Amino acid sequence: MKKIPIVLVVCSVLFPLLFVLFSTEQTKEAISQLKQPAVETKEEVVVIPKKVNQPSKKPEQLERLEKPSHKQKKQKVMQRKPIIILDPGHQKNADLTKENISPKSDKQRAKQLPSAIGINTKKKESIVTLQFAKRLQKELEKKGYEVVLTRTKQDVQLSNKERALVANEKQATYVMTLHADASESTRRGFYVATPAKQAVTLKKYKESEKLAVGVLRAVSKEDRVFEKGIFYRNENTVFNWSTAPSISIQLGFLSNVKDDKKMSNAIYLNELAKWIAKGVPKAK
Ligand SMILES: [Zn+2]
Repeated sequence: MKKIPIVLVVCSVLFPLLFVLFSTEQTKEAISQLKQPAVETKEEVVVIPKKVNQPSKKPEQLERLEKPSHKQKKQKVMQRKPIIILDPGHQKNADLTKENISPKSDKQRAKQLPSAIGINTKKKESIVTLQFAKRLQKELEKKGYEVVLTRTKQDVQLSNKERALVANEKQATYVMTLHADASESTRRGFYVATPAKQAVTLKKYKESEKLAVGVLRAVSKEDRVFEKGIFYRNENTVFNWSTAPSISIQLGFLSNVKDDKKMSNAIYLNELAKWIAKGVPKAK
């Protein structure tokens, strides 16, 4: 009879104790289960930004793929030699139809005036200028330039404006138009014309003048020049239509006996080409 109450006492003490202990374990588990999703969510949060970052990197990677082609283009421009346009003045046949002398003016002049003629040699200016252009081309190439002639034969139809546009299309560094003058007086000697300071040549007149002065100085050390040797022009179609610094080189006067003879002298013309080239800055 005494054993039963002891069992009951033991049970009544142990059972609640176990219940409390068991329920505490459950609570802990429940809490830990509640925590786990939060941890998983955190892990997902860590993953998601990575996924978000990845697509934003794709365009960058594409850009990287595209960049070399831009660089290559730049390198090509960097590697390209600076270009000088040599324009042998005139052509076989004059073209007296008219064109605007400037993109900023309605004033017109003949597309191509007739050549001057050697007083004794009867040589046409268009022949003198083309032959000289080929000599000058060799000297300027030695200075590191690519040289492009606006014409390489007599029988062409190229207006002065069109010649200027050739230079613009080639993105020339300099334009040099070559002529030989004629006069009723006894004028003689080499000279250079350069753009006057006016709206249409505002961006280039200074650099043109610098080139003109350089060429004039180099030649005047060696040979006779006409008057001061430099003249400013505001109605020169080639100057006004071309964007690059430009000058007009007047080899001499075909109307003068001595100049006419010199312009048919190969030795003199080779020397003159060297002197002119000395006055041109080295290609950068
Ligand atoms: Zn001329």
